Amino acid sequence: MTELTAPKSSISSKDFANEIRELLKYEQGVTPEQASAADVYVAASSAVRRHLMDSWMKTQQDMVNGNTKAVGYLSAEFLMGRQLRNSLLNAGLTEQFNEAVKELGFDAQKVIDAEYEPGLGNGGLGRLAACFIDSLASLGVPAFGYGIQYKYGIFRQEFDEEGKQVERPDYWLANEDPWGHIDYGRSQRVNFGGEVVEEDGKRVWKPAWAVRAIPVDYMVPGYASGRVNTLRLWQAKSYDEFDLLEFNKSEYMKAVEPQVQAENISKILYPEDSTQVGKELRLEQQYFFTSASLHDAIRVFYPGQDKPDLTTFADKITFQLNDTHPVIGIPELMRILIDEYGYDWDTAWTVTTKTFNYTCHTLLPEALEVWPASLIGKLLPRHLEIIEKINDQFLAELADLTDDQDKIERMRIVTDEDDAKVRMAYLATYAGSHVNGVAELHSQLLKDVTLRDFSDLFDAKFTNVTNGVTPRRFMKLANPGLSELITEGLGTDKWLSDLELLKGLEPLAQDDEFVKKFAKVKYDNKVKFAQFAKDEYGFDLDASTMFDTMIKRLHEYKRQALKILEVIATYADIKSGKVNADDLTPRTFIFGAKSAPGYYMAKLTIQLINNVAKVINNDPDVKGKLKIAFPYNYNIRVAQLLIPATELDEQISQAGKEASGTSNMKFALNGALTVGTLDGANVEIRARVGAENFFLFGMTVDEVEALYAAGYDPSKYYEADPRLKAAIDMVANGTFSDGDAETYEPLVTDWLKKDWFMTLADFTAYHDIQSQIDTLYADQLEWNRKAILNVANSGYFSSDRSIEDYLERIWMTGPLDK
Ligand SMILES: *Cc1c(COP(=O)(O)O)cnc(C)c1O
Repeated sequence: MTELTAPKSSISSKDFANEIRELLKYEQGVTPEQASAADVYVAASSAVRRHLMDSWMKTQQDMVNGNTKAVGYLSAEFLMGRQLRNSLLNAGLTEQFNEAVKELGFDAQKVIDAEYEPGLGNGGLGRLAACFIDSLASLGVPAFGYGIQYKYGIFRQEFDEEGKQVERPDYWLANEDPWGHIDYGRSQRVNFGGEVVEEDGKRVWKPAWAVRAIPVDYMVPGYASGRVNTLRLWQAKSYDEFDLLEFNKSEYMKAVEPQVQAENISKILYPEDSTQVGKELRLEQQYFFTSASLHDAIRVFYPGQDKPDLTTFADKITFQLNDTHPVIGIPELMRILIDEYGYDWDTAWTVTTKTFNYTCHTLLPEALEVWPASLIGKLLPRHLEIIEKINDQFLAELADLTDDQDKIERMRIVTDEDDAKVRMAYLATYAGSHVNGVAELHSQLLKDVTLRDFSDLFDAKFTNVTNGVTPRRFMKLANPGLSELITEGLGTDKWLSDLELLKGLEPLAQDDEFVKKFAKVKYDNKVKFAQFAKDEYGFDLDASTMFDTMIKRLHEYKRQALKILEVIATYADIKSGKVNADDLTPRTFIFGAKSAPGYYMAKLTIQLINNVAKVINNDPDVKGKLKIAFPYNYNIRVAQLLIPATELDEQISQAGKEASGTSNMKFALNGALTVGTLDGANVEIRARVGAENFFLFGMTVDEVEALYAAGYDPSKYYEADPRLKAAIDMVANGTFSDGDAETYEPLVTDWLKKDWFMTLADFTAYHDIQSQIDTLYADQLEWNRKAILNVANSGYFSSDRSIEDYLERIWMTGPLDK
């Protein structure tokens, strides 16, 4: 007997259908006959929201009335993905929904597909925030996600005829958003600009302008916990009265100018990834949402109190700073406590340092956020004063801890130069209680390299929490076939809330019948993806070939170039007759990647991949052997379809550059084998699934460092490996640009002269591992055994486990009483 513990609402499908009918009538104003799939989507979403309402209200009451400290997850990005299926799952309404929409004459998938995916994040960092709030709710921990409701999310990517990336605005809010509840009555005022004056011996900020931050609340239902938390995203609105006088003179644009300016703050998500651009608007955004969120938390936890005792603030809620974007919250809480509530500096400092913790997401020095002090002074003059005072206090503390003057200088929060800078990571590290990296290797490198001086003096602050992903979205929803097989194999579905139970699959890897069932699930997922790729993109994919996938943001350190060069080299081998195409395992290489719009090399790499695809896919010599598919606009939806269909997962970054990665976890949990370097969480995945079940290649962090130190010359590798030379020559001679040698010249020159991420140095090792991959793939039973062992041993990479680590090491809190 299989034990089933998934939530299941007791309402009948008939009653659920009636609820949808009611909502269609009273909210949409249509009959079921008039309704479109989009109408049914909106009505069904509202119906699910109603079913979650009691749990949502009770969770909030228990949070405010109880004495369990809550978590505030401050993040500039939440890459949530579509909501309907996930909410149905957690509300226990999936079956009723399927039946009800059928009864109403609709196809369930069409209704699901009517939801427009909100793209309020760039990549891994934003998706992590989404997985974390899912896990917090599923563990029953009271929590808020706090961020921005951008009007335009991450751009929609298209490719033009030349294969170049084109960015289209993603005006997602032009679609129905049945999940977000706008709460005009609970807005917050956020001030900007102006000056600080001395009044009665006090520093008083006289701001020049303000915007109104309006909360939009999204329910975050836990899986099987009975708890529903809140994602509160702030929308910016103007306070300024519409100027009727101006309007009457038909000077419309002038009349609405203040509105436009204020509302710009929540207008667009910065499509940046890993590196920072110093944009004034970006700092405005950061201050906007952290200030509103801190005031909101005071409102929530001290309801109706004019003079709350904020010395208890850190016992009510602990704030996690997801990267440096919300770090301006540190001086803001100081300001609130001192200026708005009259506490002295020391009391404010004690509360503030207990309240915040900081997660660092990078090792790339250019990605550590630094603001010109002059800009902070212009936008937030009082905060600059506070930051300077924090800096003075810090320098005095350091002088007590060390005699090393150089070290003290290096650690300054505010640099000592004419055009002084404020280092947000340093501010967060000093003021936060804990600082964590996102995988073992990354946390170690943070201590050894990026924040070395800090770890020397404040070692106890540093800890690690390895990232994770939610098994609800990335297994249950994305891969229903595998989920059923796992439940059958384990005799229970409890693994969805206790992912280490997957370990129980290990013996089944030796059961040929089970292995064949597993292989069948994978094959069916490939067929399903091929169908999607046909319908959506017009691709013809052959599900009998190996699906070899690389999906992630396009960045030089991630090394999509390494992958495409290997494909080109193989193509060159076949064309020159060195290799018989029949000796190779037929592969479909699938790429998905957006590039930051201003990132020239990344965009050129996208163009190259598209044009290699054009040549290879149209060459009869390699037909049925090599194929490239590059679906544009990679997002959560594509991820959910492609990851379950993938057999080989590419995690090939230069060692020491990928902080963690989370797609590597999604793939292992869905039974793909990884080819990868010893980087980020790959290290921990390999340690768990077993070295014999992971295709490792390439330089280690130490070898990379040694090679930099010795002086890296990529051209030596070009000369030494004829395959590499042939591949680069093919790019250089215009094979993939209609004979034009100019098109990819910047890429070729970079590879030969600079190659900062050592793509060329790792090329030969990467090629050598390919024959091992092919050999194993020829033995499908063995391949799938290993794939099952990947699934069985990846339970650690649940975001539930990450959250448990945070609770224990950083937040020092736990679930509400049942
Ligand atoms: C998981 C995920 C990412 C992160 O991918 P990495 O390979 O870990 O960088 C980015 N984008 C989407 C849509 C994801 O689902």
